[in-house]
Amino acid sequence: MSAIDEVKQKTDIVEVIGQYVSLTKSGRNFRGLCPFHSEKHPSFYVYPEQGSWHCFGACATGGDAFSFIMKKENIDFGEALRRLAERAGVTLPSRPEPGAKRDEKERLYQINEAAAQYFHDLLLNSKAGEKARNYVAGRGLSADTVAGFKLGFSLNSWEALKQHLAEIGYAEDELLAAGLIKEGEGGKLYDGFRNRLMFPICDLKGKVTGFGARALDDSMPKYLNSPQTPVFNKSHTLYGIDLAAPTIREKDVTVITEGYMDVITAHQNGFSNVIASMGTAITEPQINILKRLSRNIILALDADQAGEEAMLRCVGYENTLDAEVKVITLPQGRDPDDVIREDPARWQRLLDEALPVIDYTFDMVTAGLDITRARDKTLATDRLLPVIAEIRNPIRQAHYLQKLARLVNVDERRLEAELARLKPAPGRYRDKTPLAKDAGQPPRILSSPVEDYCLALLLQYPELKRFQPQPAPEHFENSENREILTGWQKAGDLPALKASLDPALWEHLDYLLDYLKKREVPTGQVERRYADCVLNLRKKYLRGLEARRSDIFALEVELGGTGADLAKLEAEGIEPSAQLLEIFRQTRHKAKNQGAKE
Ligand SMILES: [Zn+2]
Repeated sequence: MSAIDEVKQKTDIVEVIGQYVSLTKSGRNFRGLCPFHSEKHPSFYVYPEQGSWHCFGACATGGDAFSFIMKKENIDFGEALRRLAERAGVTLPSRPEPGAKRDEKERLYQINEAAAQYFHDLLLNSKAGEKARNYVAGRGLSADTVAGFKLGFSLNSWEALKQHLAEIGYAEDELLAAGLIKEGEGGKLYDGFRNRLMFPICDLKGKVTGFGARALDDSMPKYLNSPQTPVFNKSHTLYGIDLAAPTIREKDVTVITEGYMDVITAHQNGFSNVIASMGTAITEPQINILKRLSRNIILALDADQAGEEAMLRCVGYENTLDAEVKVITLPQGRDPDDVIREDPARWQRLLDEALPVIDYTFDMVTAGLDITRARDKTLATDRLLPVIAEIRNPIRQAHYLQKLARLVNVDERRLEAELARLKPAPGRYRDKTPLAKDAGQPPRILSSPVEDYCLALLLQYPELKRFQPQPAPEHFENSENREILTGWQKAGDLPALKASLDPALWEHLDYLLDYLKKREVPTGQVERRYADCVLNLRKKYLRGLEARRSDIFALEVELGGTGADLAKLEAEGIEPSAQLLEIFRQTRHKAKNQGAKE
C-alpha cells in the first residue's frame, strides 16, 4: 500500500471537514453550510463511505479529503498530503520501499524469469518435450498462445533446472527462496517441478512470481503450484491478470474461472478479460487487485458448486467491491475450457445471460418450489432472507426485499421486521466471509479504473492533449489523478511533468506510465479508446451527481422541505439528466455506426 493510500485509509473525512463546517447527520451522510460559498440552506454534503464531499449549490463541485484541504487552506497537494499524513500518524517515506528488500524481490523475479525461459525453450525445442507438445496440440493451443502465455516443460530430472540456473549464476539458496528447488532428507536439493507442463504465473505488471504445473503422467498431484515465497502468495495471485488487464479495463468487467486452461483457451478465442482465481474462494487481496481494473465481476461456477454458501460468499465480494457480482453456471460436468473449445458462441451467450448474484439465488431457491403453497413460501423466505440480509448497500437490499415480498405475496413491512432480526451485527463479516478484514473499515473508494486508464492513455500519447472533448479535472474523483491531469495539461513533456509534481505522487505516476506497457493499444484505436474513456468519465460524474441529488431529494421530502426548496432541487436535477440523455444518445449513435462497420 502506498503512503498516500494509507493516509486515505486512516483519514476520516467527516472529522477533517468537521473542523471547518458544522455538520449534521443526514441519512448515511452529513450536511452543512458550504464553506466555499455563502448560503442559508445547507447544500454541502459529506459522504463518509466514499470519502468524498460535494456542494450542490453555487460551487457545484466536490472531491476527496485532499481537495477539500487544498481548497480550504489554499495549499498544494503535497502540503495537504503532509498535513493529513501528520493527522493520521503516517510517516511519508522518502523511498517507496527499503532498498535491500526490493533488491531481493527483484532477484527472485529474475530467477523466475530465467526459469520460465528455460522451461519455454524445452517445450518448443527439446526432444524430451515432445509429449508436452503433443498434449498442448491436443488441447488445440496455437503457437501464438503458447508463446503469449510462455508455456513450458520441465524435464523428468532431479536437477536439470538446478544445474541450468547455477550455470547462469544463481546460488542454491536463491533457488530455494524462489521455491524452484526443494530440500530433501539429508539436505539434498532437487528440482521441485519434474515432467510437467509449466504455466508461469505473473503479477499485474507481467513479472513472473511463480509457477503452476500440470503432471504429464499419472503423478500426483495433477496440479502443483510454487510454494509461498517473498514474491508468490496464492491468495494475492490471479492467473492471467497481466494479459487480461487491458481488456478488463476496456470492457469494464472481469470473468473469473478456476483453471489455467480455462484462461488460456478463453484468450485464444478472443475472450481476453478472463482470469483464474487460485482456489474456489476469492480472497480480499485478489478483490483489491481487481478493484483497480473494474468493479464488475462475472463468476463462472461449476454446476454443483453454486449453492447458497457460494452465493453468500458472492455477496461478500459485492460488499467489498461495492458493485454487483454476476454469476454463470456451467453445464453439468463441463468447465469453461470445454465449453469454449466446443462452441465459443455458447460461452458468449452464457456471459450475456449472466445473472446478478441475488437474482440468481432467487431462481435457484424457487426452482424446486411451488410458491403458491404456504409451506413453500416459508421455505423460500427462510432461505432468501439471510442472503438479502448480507447485502450492505441499502438501496439494493430494499430492491430485493421488495422482490421477495412480491414473490411470496407477503407484506413488505413484515419481511422488513424479519430482516431487522437477521441483519448482521457490526463485525459479523469479520468471522464469516473470506473478505473479513476489509469489512470492518469504511471503504475508501477513490480510484476508478476508467480514470487510471484515461490518464494512462493521455500520458502515453501526448497528442491526445489536442483531442476534443477533453476530460475536466472534476470528472476525476481521485486527487492524485486530478493533480497529474492538471500538471500534464501544463507540462511540455514527462520530465517536466514529474518535476512539477510533488514527489509523493511519483509512485502513482509510475504506476500510470506502466499501465499500457504490457500490451500496446493498436495505433488506429488510440483515439477511439480515449474518446470512450472521456465519455465514460463524464457519464460517471453526471450519474453520480444525479444519484446523489435524488438521494437528497428523497430526504428533503421525508424531512418536509419547503415547496421552494424542492422546486429548486428538482430544477438542479434536470441539468445532469439532460446531459446524461445527450451522452446516451451519443453512445447509441456510436454503437450503431460501429455495428454498421462490422
Ligand atoms: Zn458551495
